[in-house]
Amino acid sequence: MPVEKFEGPLRSRANLFKTHPSLTIILSLLVLILAIFTSASNSVIPRLGLLFGHLTPRHTPTTTTTRHVTTAATMTTIYAAELEVAQLAVQRAAQLTKRVFREKGTKGAVAKDDASPVTVGDFGAQALIIAALRARFPHDAIVAEEEAAPLRTDAALRERIWRLVRETRLDDVAAEGLLGGAVADVEDMLALIDRGKSEGGRRGRVWTIDPIDGTKGFLRGGQYAVALALLEDGDVKVGVLGCPNLPVDDAAPLTADIGANQTDEEGRGVIFSAVIGQGAWSRPLRTGALAEGKRISMKPITEMSSASFCESVEAGHSNQSEAARIAQKLGITKPSVRMDSQAKYGSIARGAGDIYLRLPTSKTYQEKIWDHAAGDLIVREAGGQVTDTKGQRLDFGVGRTLATNSGVVAAPAAVHGQVLEAVQEVLGLK
Ligand code: AMP
Ligand code: MG
Repeated sequence: MPVEKFEGPLRSRANLFKTHPSLTIILSLLVLILAIFTSASNSVIPRLGLLFGHLTPRHTPTTTTTRHVTTAATMTTIYAAELEVAQLAVQRAAQLTKRVFREKGTKGAVAKDDASPVTVGDFGAQALIIAALRARFPHDAIVAEEEAAPLRTDAALRERIWRLVRETRLDDVAAEGLLGGAVADVEDMLALIDRGKSEGGRRGRVWTIDPIDGTKGFLRGGQYAVALALLEDGDVKVGVLGCPNLPVDDAAPLTADIGANQTDEEGRGVIFSAVIGQGAWSRPLRTGALAEGKRISMKPITEMSSASFCESVEAGHSNQSEAARIAQKLGITKPSVRMDSQAKYGSIARGAGDIYLRLPTSKTYQEKIWDHAAGDLIVREAGGQVTDTKGQRLDFGVGRTLATNSGVVAAPAAVHGQVLEAVQEVLGLK
């Protein structure tokens, strides 16, 4: 009897397969699918590989100390490795930009073809960020603002940047190891800078880098940001902004003077970050390992009259007189807060400010994807909505520019429609 009892269920299961042969086929198929899933590599089945890639450590860290950290991080959350590397890369690059920011004089500024300035800080920060991406995500494409051409013909400029790149490292050995360590030599530095020439687009993984967003602010002693974002198939998945001159304190009120005569002294320096579907955070900008992060969210606007809106310092980047008329239409009584760079996105994401308007000054200018990708995600993950002046989401999948968009309207989701309506009335888009 005990044997019968034991064998009973087995026998009836065997009978089941005999009476339903299709079950055997279905089960075999299931086993086959599972086997493919677990063994699929990125090259065999790219889409499935991509999905699984985020759950498993694909990029071998360079040291044993870092392996443990990376494995734990990547196994738990989608994009955890990308987020960690991006924040550390921004933190390291910001050490270089801070050093240049403190220099008196021209900061090695040269004019680019479009007459916009670029400093030794821009080149150096871009080289350091791309070095980290090459070490950790070697197959990803990169869209970065600068190129090495001016350095190839100017030995003094090149040497100055090389010295900065060579001397900048995180003061935490494990964190520096996670970024792949030092750049080999001057030639390697130039090659790294030139890895940022991807055309972007709708397919695959693309990092966008603005090594110093708001270079004019950086030169004036205002706000600037080190900006890095990961796009996947044209959508922003990870966004990081290092803002060395913003207060660490998320609750610090946004005063009208935040955009001028800034320092990066005690109490300043913050990293904003976001991962798609996982929220937005801020943390103090450090010199080694990452500091503890805090969740941030936009402030609900109860009264438009007490809302504050941010815009560019540069009148050539955003139409300030139209912005004033929009503010008036909305009943906003405070003067605008003017500051350079994506620090504006970070400031509204943590509720220090409320609305960010960027109104086109010319019909032909196309916004650059590196000027908006990180900020767009950080604001949306903090409870905001970001569109252009036509009400369309920013489309990062059309190339190096936001060719199909016009301007930016960012506000808490609950009032975005109201703000957009005022924008469209004033711009004559309705
Ligand atoms: P912001 O500091 O917010 O004024 O933005 C700085 C960015 O504005 C720079 O990184 C430039 O890429 C970008 N920019 C340059 N010219 C224009 C323009 N005419 N309209 C809008 N943005 C511009
Ligand atoms: Mg920029």
